[in-house]
Amino acid sequence: MDVAGRVERLRPALAGAGCDGLLVTSLVNIRYLTGFTGSAGLLLVLDDDLLLVTDGRYAQQADDQLAAAGVAARLEISGTGQRELLGAAVRGTGRLGLEASSVTWAQTRRFDDDWFPDATLVPTDGLVESLRIVKDAGEVARIEAAAHLADAALAEVRPLLLDGPTEAELGLALDTAIRRRGAEGTSFETIVASGPNGAKPHHRPGPRPIGEGDLVVLDFGALVDGYCSDMTRTLMVGEPSPTQQRMLDVVTASQRAGVAAVAPDVATAAVDAACRSVIDEAGWGDAFVHGTGHGVGLQIHEDPRVAATATATLAPGHVVTVEPGVYLPEHGGVRVEDTVVVTDEGCRPLTLAPKRPLVAA
Ligand code: ZN
Ligand code: ZN
Repeated sequence: MDVAGRVERLRPALAGAGCDGLLVTSLVNIRYLTGFTGSAGLLLVLDDDLLLVTDGRYAQQADDQLAAAGVAARLEISGTGQRELLGAAVRGTGRLGLEASSVTWAQTRRFDDDWFPDATLVPTDGLVESLRIVKDAGEVARIEAAAHLADAALAEVRPLLLDGPTEAELGLALDTAIRRRGAEGTSFETIVASGPNGAKPHHRPGPRPIGEGDLVVLDFGALVDGYCSDMTRTLMVGEPSPTQQRMLDVVTASQRAGVAAVAPDVATAAVDAACRSVIDEAGWGDAFVHGTGHGVGLQIHEDPRVAATATATLAPGHVVTVEPGVYLPEHGGVRVEDTVVVTDEGCRPLTLAPKRPLVAA
């Protein structure tokens, strides 16, 4: 991963956003720009300065991580003197950008009144995120490692469905398999939604026992070196009813059409349309109640959005999910999701677990 080059790519964007410097408050953006993973820190990016300020808990870690990433930043450790350190560094900077979606109202007031009284604070939006949207080879390798780990965890846990576990038990087994295989954790709270619960796209696993005749939506991912994977498979315990079979067929075809549409210079809205048209034709348009997908990286949900109302256009290095679904309370839910990386020609799926849904004795 080329962490050290990222600040150099950010600097030219600052002038375009009307600022002479940027105070990075988003911890995930600080991680992206410096490699520092602590839970508290502020990063000041100026044309001729890069200053990371954190507190004593992270003195050694910050030093180690900056060195490991090859990032030439000044590191200052202080609990109570951060205002003075940053105030001094900002002096002479006319317009200081803040990350509008990361700072709170209270923080902004404090920065304006106390920390940087002589600077003009400028709201900025998506400056670092617009770099993060294109993943380098090292980032893709991490997402892919997370995806493969999650694939293996599902293969391990799948046979347990025949033992009649509760949703919560199956979810715990999946999470445990993910951790035991070396992930730092899951990339978000695992979804296990069986039977009627499957009609709630983000159902939290509960005490319901999974049994014969259930569709089971499993949506989960692993976290490897800070990077997320995201995959949904819908399994069928026993024989599907005709409607359940049709739901499985339609959603699988819709998802395939969406993945086939992913390519450079394609609007993400067109990927959404490719998925939606298959479900519309089946008469279930109203039962596809969410967008088609989202970017995946250091965060489980990031740019670009893949939805009818999205305005993004795909480019090589984007990593997105394609996850159409149909939710019918009387029959259950079906969602199929892959995470794919956009290549020069089209895309390459990173999540590879088989899509065969049937689990039978
Ligand atoms: Zn998912
Ligand atoms: Zn997703």
